[in-house]
Amino acid sequence: MRHFLHSLGPVFMILTHLGCGLLVFTGLGPAAALWALSLYLVRMLATTAIYHRLVTHGSYQAPRAVWWLGCLIATSSGQMGPSWWKAHHLQHHRHVDTDLDSHSPLAPRAGWQGAWHSQAGWLFSKEFHPRQLPADVEADPVLRLMDRLQVLPPLALAWLSWQLGGLEWLGAYCLSTTVLYHGVASVNSVAHLVGDQPFDTGDASRNNRWVALITLGEGWHNLHHAFQASVRQGLTVEDGKVRTLPDPTYRFIRLMEGLGWARDLRVPSDRAVLARARTTPRP
Ligand SMILES: [Zn+2]
Ligand SMILES: [Zn+2]
Repeated sequence: MRHFLHSLGPVFMILTHLGCGLLVFTGLGPAAALWALSLYLVRMLATTAIYHRLVTHGSYQAPRAVWWLGCLIATSSGQMGPSWWKAHHLQHHRHVDTDLDSHSPLAPRAGWQGAWHSQAGWLFSKEFHPRQLPADVEADPVLRLMDRLQVLPPLALAWLSWQLGGLEWLGAYCLSTTVLYHGVASVNSVAHLVGDQPFDTGDASRNNRWVALITLGEGWHNLHHAFQASVRQGLTVEDGKVRTLPDPTYRFIRLMEGLGWARDLRVPSDRAVLARARTTPRP
Protein backbone atom coordinates (compact mmCIF):
# COMPACT_ATOMS: atom_id res chain seq x y z
CA MET A 1 0.00 0.00 0.00
CA ARG A 2 2.83 2.38 0.92
CA HIS A 3 4.52 1.78 -2.43
CA PHE A 4 1.26 2.45 -4.28
CA LEU A 5 0.61 5.71 -2.37
CA HIS A 6 4.18 6.88 -2.93
CA SER A 7 3.94 6.04 -6.64
CA LEU A 8 1.19 8.63 -7.05
CA GLY A 9 3.79 11.37 -6.49
CA PRO A 10 5.58 11.16 -9.86
CA VAL A 11 2.21 10.76 -11.65
CA PHE A 12 1.07 14.02 -10.06
CA MET A 13 4.33 15.73 -11.05
CA ILE A 14 3.92 14.67 -14.72
CA LEU A 15 0.37 16.09 -14.70
CA THR A 16 1.72 19.31 -13.18
CA HIS A 17 4.25 19.67 -16.01
CA LEU A 18 1.47 19.14 -18.57
CA GLY A 19 -0.75 21.63 -16.71
CA CYS A 20 1.68 24.45 -17.56
CA GLY A 21 0.23 24.18 -21.07
CA LEU A 22 -2.96 25.86 -19.77
CA LEU A 23 -1.07 29.16 -19.81
CA VAL A 24 -0.74 28.95 -23.59
CA PHE A 25 -4.50 29.43 -23.78
CA THR A 26 -5.11 31.69 -20.78
CA GLY A 27 -1.97 33.83 -20.70
CA LEU A 28 -0.36 34.83 -17.38
CA GLY A 29 -1.50 38.14 -15.91
CA PRO A 30 0.29 39.99 -13.08
CA ALA A 31 -1.99 38.70 -10.29
CA ALA A 32 -1.58 35.06 -11.36
CA ALA A 33 2.19 35.59 -11.78
CA LEU A 34 2.38 36.96 -8.24
CA TRP A 35 0.43 33.93 -6.99
CA ALA A 36 2.92 31.62 -8.75
CA LEU A 37 5.92 33.49 -7.31
CA SER A 38 4.47 33.52 -3.77
CA LEU A 39 3.74 29.80 -3.90
CA TYR A 40 7.28 29.20 -5.16
CA LEU A 41 8.98 31.17 -2.37
CA VAL A 42 6.86 29.84 0.51
CA ARG A 43 7.15 26.21 -0.60
CA MET A 44 10.86 26.50 -1.40
CA LEU A 45 11.46 27.82 2.12
CA ALA A 46 9.43 24.96 3.61
CA THR A 47 11.49 22.47 1.61
CA THR A 48 14.87 23.99 2.51
CA ALA A 49 14.26 25.18 6.08
CA ILE A 50 11.95 22.36 7.24
CA TYR A 51 12.45 19.22 5.12
CA HIS A 52 16.18 19.66 4.64
CA ARG A 53 17.70 21.63 7.50
CA LEU A 54 15.24 20.60 10.29
CA VAL A 55 13.72 17.18 9.54
CA THR A 56 16.68 15.63 7.73
CA HIS A 57 19.74 17.19 9.33
CA GLY A 58 18.46 18.46 12.69
CA SER A 59 20.51 21.62 12.28
CA TYR A 60 18.16 23.37 14.76
CA GLN A 61 15.36 22.44 17.12
CA ALA A 62 11.73 23.49 16.71
CA PRO A 63 8.35 22.95 18.40
CA ARG A 64 6.24 20.11 17.01
CA ALA A 65 3.76 22.56 15.48
CA VAL A 66 6.57 23.95 13.28
CA TRP A 67 7.42 20.42 12.11
CA TRP A 68 3.79 19.70 11.22
CA LEU A 69 2.94 23.01 9.56
CA GLY A 70 6.31 23.21 7.78
CA CYS A 71 6.04 19.64 6.50
CA LEU A 72 2.46 20.23 5.35
CA ILE A 73 3.58 23.23 3.27
CA ALA A 74 6.64 21.33 1.96
CA THR A 75 4.40 18.38 1.04
CA SER A 76 2.20 20.74 -0.98
CA SER A 77 5.20 21.13 -3.34
CA GLY A 78 4.36 17.71 -4.77
CA GLN A 79 7.86 16.49 -3.94
CA MET A 80 6.75 13.63 -1.72
CA GLY A 81 6.30 13.37 2.06
CA PRO A 82 8.76 13.79 4.96
CA SER A 83 9.70 10.10 5.44
CA TRP A 84 10.36 9.50 1.75
CA TRP A 85 12.29 12.78 1.43
CA LYS A 86 14.51 12.23 4.45
CA ALA A 87 15.19 8.60 3.54
CA HIS A 88 16.50 9.51 0.10
CA HIS A 89 18.46 12.50 1.27
CA LEU A 90 20.25 10.51 3.96
CA GLN A 91 20.96 7.81 1.37
CA HIS A 92 22.51 10.54 -0.80
CA HIS A 93 24.80 11.77 1.98
CA ARG A 94 25.74 8.26 3.08
CA HIS A 95 26.69 7.04 -0.38
CA VAL A 96 27.36 10.29 -2.22
CA ASP A 97 28.22 9.92 -5.91
CA THR A 98 28.37 6.12 -5.82
CA ASP A 99 25.96 3.54 -7.27
CA LEU A 100 24.09 3.53 -3.92
CA ASP A 101 23.40 7.30 -4.09
CA SER A 102 19.71 7.68 -5.02
CA HIS A 103 20.30 10.54 -7.45
CA SER A 104 23.93 11.11 -8.39
CA PRO A 105 24.65 12.62 -11.84
CA LEU A 106 27.92 10.66 -11.84
CA ALA A 107 26.87 7.12 -10.87
CA PRO A 108 25.92 4.62 -12.07
CA ARG A 109 26.15 6.68 -15.30
CA ALA A 110 27.74 10.05 -16.02
CA GLY A 111 27.26 12.46 -18.92
CA TRP A 112 23.80 13.38 -20.18
CA GLN A 113 22.31 10.13 -18.92
CA GLY A 114 23.61 10.89 -15.42
CA ALA A 115 22.34 14.47 -15.57
CA TRP A 116 18.84 13.27 -16.56
CA HIS A 117 18.92 10.56 -13.89
CA SER A 118 19.72 13.08 -11.12
CA GLN A 119 17.26 15.71 -12.37
CA ALA A 120 14.20 13.49 -12.80
CA GLY A 121 14.94 10.02 -14.19
CA TRP A 122 15.60 8.43 -10.80
CA LEU A 123 11.93 8.97 -9.87
CA PHE A 124 11.05 6.45 -12.58
CA SER A 125 13.76 3.95 -11.66
CA LYS A 126 14.07 1.20 -9.05
CA GLU A 127 15.71 3.84 -6.81
CA PHE A 128 12.34 5.48 -6.24
CA HIS A 129 11.23 3.46 -3.23
CA PRO A 130 13.52 4.06 -0.23
CA ARG A 131 15.28 1.03 1.22
CA GLN A 132 14.40 2.16 4.75
CA LEU A 133 12.23 4.92 6.18
CA PRO A 134 13.60 7.15 9.00
CA ALA A 135 12.43 5.89 12.41
CA ASP A 136 11.99 9.34 13.99
CA VAL A 137 9.64 10.63 11.28
CA GLU A 138 7.76 7.32 11.16
CA ALA A 139 7.24 7.49 14.95
CA ASP A 140 5.20 10.69 14.58
CA PRO A 141 1.67 9.68 13.47
CA VAL A 142 0.96 13.11 11.94
CA LEU A 143 4.12 13.09 9.79
CA ARG A 144 3.55 9.45 8.89
CA LEU A 145 0.04 10.19 7.66
CA MET A 146 1.33 13.18 5.71
CA ASP A 147 3.98 10.99 4.11
CA ARG A 148 1.46 8.42 2.89
CA LEU A 149 -1.19 10.93 1.78
CA GLN A 150 1.42 13.25 0.26
CA VAL A 151 -0.54 13.73 -2.93
CA LEU A 152 -3.50 15.43 -1.17
CA PRO A 153 -1.88 18.78 -0.11
CA PRO A 154 -0.67 19.61 -3.66
CA LEU A 155 -4.06 18.59 -5.05
CA ALA A 156 -5.81 20.83 -2.50
CA LEU A 157 -3.56 23.73 -3.48
CA ALA A 158 -4.30 23.12 -7.17
CA TRP A 159 -8.03 23.15 -6.37
CA LEU A 160 -7.66 26.36 -4.32
CA SER A 161 -5.80 28.04 -7.22
CA TRP A 162 -8.58 27.05 -9.60
CA GLN A 163 -11.24 28.39 -7.23
CA LEU A 164 -9.39 31.68 -6.81
CA GLY A 165 -8.72 32.50 -10.44
CA GLY A 166 -9.97 29.80 -12.78
CA LEU A 167 -7.78 28.04 -15.33
CA GLU A 168 -5.21 30.87 -15.44
CA TRP A 169 -4.46 30.51 -11.73
CA LEU A 170 -4.46 26.73 -12.03
CA GLY A 171 -1.89 27.12 -14.80
CA ALA A 172 0.11 29.50 -12.58
CA TYR A 173 0.04 26.88 -9.82
CA CYS A 174 1.32 24.25 -12.27
CA LEU A 175 4.09 26.56 -13.47
CA SER A 176 5.16 27.41 -9.91
CA THR A 177 5.16 23.72 -8.90
CA THR A 178 7.09 22.64 -12.01
CA VAL A 179 9.78 25.31 -11.62
CA LEU A 180 9.97 24.54 -7.89
CA TYR A 181 10.54 20.86 -8.66
CA HIS A 182 13.40 21.63 -11.04
CA GLY A 183 14.86 24.21 -8.64
CA VAL A 184 15.12 21.65 -5.83
CA ALA A 185 16.34 18.95 -8.24
CA SER A 186 19.12 21.24 -9.47
CA VAL A 187 20.81 20.75 -6.10
CA ASN A 188 21.05 17.04 -6.89
CA SER A 189 22.19 17.55 -10.48
CA VAL A 190 23.85 20.92 -11.16
CA ALA A 191 25.37 21.32 -7.67
CA HIS A 192 27.22 18.02 -8.17
CA LEU A 193 28.47 19.03 -11.64
CA VAL A 194 29.18 22.76 -11.93
CA GLY A 195 30.74 25.15 -9.42
CA ASP A 196 33.70 25.53 -7.13
CA GLN A 197 34.86 23.33 -4.27
CA PRO A 198 36.36 25.40 -1.48
CA PHE A 199 36.14 22.42 0.92
CA ASP A 200 37.75 19.04 0.92
CA THR A 201 34.76 16.71 0.98
CA GLY A 202 36.01 13.83 -1.19
CA ASP A 203 32.87 14.00 -3.36
CA ALA A 204 31.61 16.00 -6.35
CA SER A 205 29.49 18.50 -4.38
CA ARG A 206 29.96 22.09 -5.50
CA ASN A 207 29.05 25.63 -4.58
CA ASN A 208 26.91 27.08 -7.36
CA ARG A 209 25.62 30.65 -7.03
CA TRP A 210 22.79 30.19 -9.55
CA VAL A 211 21.49 27.14 -7.72
CA ALA A 212 21.85 29.09 -4.45
CA LEU A 213 19.77 31.90 -5.94
CA ILE A 214 16.85 29.76 -7.04
CA THR A 215 16.91 27.52 -3.94
CA LEU A 216 17.25 30.33 -1.40
CA GLY A 217 20.70 29.26 -0.25
CA GLU A 218 20.89 25.51 -0.88
CA GLY A 219 23.34 25.89 -3.76
CA TRP A 220 26.27 26.29 -1.36
CA HIS A 221 26.32 22.54 -1.57
CA ASN A 222 30.04 21.92 -1.10
CA LEU A 223 29.83 23.61 2.32
CA HIS A 224 26.74 21.53 3.06
CA HIS A 225 28.55 18.29 2.33
CA ALA A 226 31.44 19.44 4.53
CA PHE A 227 29.11 20.48 7.41
CA GLN A 228 25.80 18.65 6.99
CA ALA A 229 24.46 19.74 10.37
CA SER A 230 25.20 23.43 9.83
CA VAL A 231 22.03 25.53 9.81
CA ARG A 232 23.96 28.10 7.77
CA GLN A 233 25.07 26.93 4.33
CA GLY A 234 26.26 30.30 3.02
CA LEU A 235 29.83 30.02 4.29
CA THR A 236 33.06 29.80 2.35
CA VAL A 237 36.79 30.43 2.73
CA GLU A 238 38.62 33.07 0.72
CA ASP A 239 42.23 34.12 1.22
CA GLY A 240 42.41 32.11 4.44
CA LYS A 241 39.35 33.81 5.96
CA VAL A 242 35.76 32.64 6.52
CA ARG A 243 33.28 34.63 4.44
CA THR A 244 29.50 34.55 4.45
CA LEU A 245 27.41 34.10 1.31
CA PRO A 246 23.74 34.96 0.67
CA ASP A 247 21.58 32.35 2.41
CA PRO A 248 17.91 33.44 2.64
CA THR A 249 16.92 30.12 4.23
CA TYR A 250 19.31 30.80 7.10
CA ARG A 251 17.87 34.30 7.48
CA PHE A 252 14.39 32.79 7.58
CA ILE A 253 15.42 30.35 10.32
CA ARG A 254 16.95 33.25 12.28
CA LEU A 255 13.60 35.01 11.94
CA MET A 256 11.86 31.90 13.27
CA GLU A 257 14.34 31.91 16.17
CA GLY A 258 13.37 35.50 16.95
CA LEU A 259 9.72 34.43 17.07
CA GLY A 260 10.52 31.50 19.37
CA TRP A 261 9.85 28.90 16.64
CA ALA A 262 13.47 27.71 16.35
CA ARG A 263 16.27 27.24 18.87
CA ASP A 264 19.71 25.63 19.26
CA LEU A 265 20.91 26.65 15.79
CA ARG A 266 24.09 24.76 14.90
CA VAL A 267 26.84 26.65 13.09
CA PRO A 268 30.45 25.42 12.86
CA SER A 269 33.17 27.59 14.38
CA ASP A 270 35.45 29.58 12.07
CA ARG A 271 38.26 27.29 13.15
CA ALA A 272 36.35 24.19 12.04
CA VAL A 273 35.43 25.80 8.71
CA LEU A 274 39.04 26.81 8.03
CA ALA A 275 40.23 23.31 8.94
CA ARG A 276 38.05 21.76 6.19
CA ALA A 277 39.08 24.27 3.50
CA ARG A 278 41.23 23.12 0.62
CA THR A 279 44.81 24.14 1.03
CA THR A 280 45.71 23.51 -2.60
CA PRO A 281 43.66 24.56 -5.63
CA ARG A 282 41.71 21.77 -7.26
CA PRO A 283 43.50 20.55 -10.41
ZN1 LIG B 1 24.72 16.51 -2.49
ZN1 LIG C 1 21.66 17.50 3.06
